[in-house]
Amino acid sequence: MHGFIIVLLTEEEAQQGKAHLLHHIEKIVYPYKRAYDQGDERVCGCADETGAANPNCEDCKGTGKSPHNPNGKLDYWVLGGRYEGFIRNGKIDPQKSIGDFFTELINFMSSSSGNVLPDSSHSEIDTNVVPIDHIHLNVLREVWITPDHGWVENIFNFTDDPRQKYKDHWVAGIDYHS
Ligand SMILES: [Zn+2]
Repeated sequence: MHGFIIVLLTEEEAQQGKAHLLHHIEKIVYPYKRAYDQGDERVCGCADETGAANPNCEDCKGTGKSPHNPNGKLDYWVLGGRYEGFIRNGKIDPQKSIGDFFTELINFMSSSSGNVLPDSSHSEIDTNVVPIDHIHLNVLREVWITPDHGWVENIFNFTDDPRQKYKDHWVAGIDYHS
């Protein structure tokens, strides 16, 4: 499944150049990835209060440390992608939304190594990163990742107008695979 996320940025963050920007977005999205894939495994759900793990646990194999994030929502993401331009024009290109199996597979394999996907996997900044007052109204009900509330399914639970609440911010539109 694919979905769309609006990532909030400061103006400075939005304008730091593509390589830095992609790494910055990765930092924001990482807590919501299904796998702790940067060598930072956490305590497995099978462990009891004393930290003792179930030796037969399929997840951690008894080590008590798991690469699986209980708060995970996605496998990997790309800037724009199937939702190229969506953040500023509110339209999804039906051609792009079909995707292709081979690209998906490559993305899945490279994301499991914990790296940001190569530049060529991402769409351009211009059409997918905009000042918040340029966000299309059709897009406001999508998922947001905000500095103050984290992953937000419905931004209107927190504000009547996210464009006011996050005035002077920029927004990046990313395509995520779950
Ligand atoms: Zn376990």
